[in-house]
Amino acid sequence: MHKFNAEVEEVADEILAYALDRLRLEPPLDGPLTAAELYEKVGNTITAKGLGGLPTLEIFKEVLAKACISTDHERYLAFIPTAPSEYSSLFDLVVSAASIYGGSWQEGAGAVFAENQALRWLADLAGFPAGAGGVFVSGGTIGNLSALCVAREDARRNHPEHKGKWAVVCGDQAHSSIAGAAKIMDVEIVKAKRSADGKIYGDAVAKAIDEYEANGGRVFCIVATAGTTNLGIIDHLDSIDDVAVERDIWFHVDGAYGLAALCAPSVRAKFDGIEYADSFIVDPHKWLFAPFDACALIYKDPKIAKEALAQHASYLDTLHENDDWNPSDYAIHLTRRTRGLPFWFSLAANGTDAYKDAMEYTMLIAKKAVELIKAHPNLDLLMEPELSIVAFTRKGWNKEDYQRWSDKLLEDQIGFVTPSSHEGQPILRFAIVNPWTNVDDIEKILETL
Ligand SMILES: *Cc1c(COP(=O)(O)O)cnc(C)c1O
Repeated sequence: MHKFNAEVEEVADEILAYALDRLRLEPPLDGPLTAAELYEKVGNTITAKGLGGLPTLEIFKEVLAKACISTDHERYLAFIPTAPSEYSSLFDLVVSAASIYGGSWQEGAGAVFAENQALRWLADLAGFPAGAGGVFVSGGTIGNLSALCVAREDARRNHPEHKGKWAVVCGDQAHSSIAGAAKIMDVEIVKAKRSADGKIYGDAVAKAIDEYEANGGRVFCIVATAGTTNLGIIDHLDSIDDVAVERDIWFHVDGAYGLAALCAPSVRAKFDGIEYADSFIVDPHKWLFAPFDACALIYKDPKIAKEALAQHASYLDTLHENDDWNPSDYAIHLTRRTRGLPFWFSLAANGTDAYKDAMEYTMLIAKKAVELIKAHPNLDLLMEPELSIVAFTRKGWNKEDYQRWSDKLLEDQIGFVTPSSHEGQPILRFAIVNPWTNVDDIEKILETL
């Protein structure tokens, strides 16, 4: 390894120039190759003597990077894209350069302070009290798992007499990470029935709990989804929280995608009731213009989370001597990158109004997409979007037709839109979270249908 000698300086210039180019350019879409194709092009890059900085960078630039789809492309509308602001991507470079340990206050005080201000903005948007707090984790999956583990610890403490099964109640459109968490935790999943409008209401949750508990089990957590991943449907938080409060059950809101819109005045009322939740998550790497990987996990009473999740060991006890805020204590992790800093920097520099405006703009483009789809002779809108996911079908197409079209769209480097399904029927969906996506981007894709 080298200190910053002349050779490293040269590589540094090249790496920074490449990073800036990547950020300045309209990102190319690009696309995957097979492992065999990649091997053919680059061979084995791990050698005893090393390839040298510039040749290795060349391999990345010319081959490896081009075999990765740019998730921030304006016409990447599959899954949930990412759309980091310029400032957040740039600041991600600083986070790497600064080697900050983000697990403890002692080591990362300044960075943790800044992360906490960004979390506070989200907590305020949700109407959480002054004592609320949490941590940035890698994604919604770890955020949900951490919150569910805390909820179960809380229930175990409140109900030491319960020796039977534990369960979590959610809707059948809840994200796959909830079922994943239940599997890891060896607890059961109870599905509440959704209404005709696709939402879960409190009465369906109460019914599901009654039926489950009649057989001796106990529900430790109700999970509502604030913006389902497939269609962007927001469960009816206001009636669900009545059930949670009445029965003293932990209420967690999975808003990995949708809760970003808490800052958008035009849809804020759809989240009424969030203030009664015990915990929630939202991914800044989805619709809050931050790079991967960042999920904000926030608890109303973080003390409960700390009791459930803080790790104790002889060499860690020094960190627990005073009442410092140690981010490690609030999720399933110890060492952590201060991954909330790119989000904080952009939020601090741009101001929260810019977030509100960008959010409203993506929803405006979603509305325009709806109009174009309604006017398109071959397309049928599936439902009016609640947020920024627009789902529709193509007349006369089966599953294979959708897949063929999707493959060709990427091959032609027009866009990336993957088929999904709803109630057994194949559908297409646009997830619009990128403020650089404009009406002509939508038109370009619709022309191919
Ligand atoms: C994306 C998503 C998740 C999972 O988040 P990751 O960051 O991908 O782990 C959980 N819940 C919902 C509703 C999501 O949309």
